[in-house]
Amino acid sequence: MPPWEVVTDIRCELGEGPLWDPVRRCILWVDITKGVIYQYREGNKPEMMEIGQKTGAIAPVNGGGLIAALKDGFAFIDQSGRKIKIIADPEKSLHGNRFNDGKCDPAGRFWAGTMDEIENRRGAGSLYSLNNDLTVSVKIKGVSCSNGLAWSLDHRVFYYIDTPTRQVVAYDYEVEDGKITNRRVVINISSEEGLPDGMTIDAEGMLWVAHWGGWKISRWNPSTGERLTDLSLPVSHVSSCTFGGSGLDDLYVTSARAGLNKDELDAQPQAGALFVLRKSGFTGTKAFEFRKPLS
Ligand code: CA
Repeated sequence: MPPWEVVTDIRCELGEGPLWDPVRRCILWVDITKGVIYQYREGNKPEMMEIGQKTGAIAPVNGGGLIAALKDGFAFIDQSGRKIKIIADPEKSLHGNRFNDGKCDPAGRFWAGTMDEIENRRGAGSLYSLNNDLTVSVKIKGVSCSNGLAWSLDHRVFYYIDTPTRQVVAYDYEVEDGKITNRRVVINISSEEGLPDGMTIDAEGMLWVAHWGGWKISRWNPSTGERLTDLSLPVSHVSSCTFGGSGLDDLYVTSARAGLNKDELDAQPQAGALFVLRKSGFTGTKAFEFRKPLS
């Protein structure tokens, strides 16, 4: 197993959404269930922002602060985490749904998708884009558990994971209007390997997929469907990954305690931790920022 370090003592119920802030040189991540955003800068104490509701994903905003996909919809959150401004709630009438994973696209729109968190009904969610003018577009309907997102280095392909499908799919993507077309399957994950969850893309255009229930992350060439690397972790519920550090070569991985029984938790005391593999030998890509409208 690679020499993973556990970054802090924090153990998340549902750790997710790792995000490297290159300006403040800190790693941020969320505990979706607890509705908390954590941030940690090397040598400092971890900081905690309590959002007061389930927090599916966060992304940076140009000019500072965060944009988030909350139980109540899309929101701006200031740097301190104290000011929360709800922007839009496309699923106001769907009480059983909540937002899950999300990320900004190369044009600075914030994409995030939903799931039925009560009954896990198939196809009950959607993938949305919050556009730069703060309008909302539906990108994909009939999603079950909206998860990993990534855009190719040339900004012409969008990669997406709807977890129960066990697939990574690709769409042609148009950066000007955010249109996606021509869906095709590029990666299949077998049932012995857990379920595909969060995802990131590295500087070579290769995809990294977190395996929920699969004790690992994997690296793939989306053009050929070829598996390139598997990196094992000491916890089963591996939820997402991203690259950080000054050279973008530290590999951060989130995990969860949710879904594990007492015996399983006893056997994996690091479940819910944020892990890092320093100087991983791979280089990531910088997270896109949300482009706020001029006001
Ligand atoms: Ca996830």
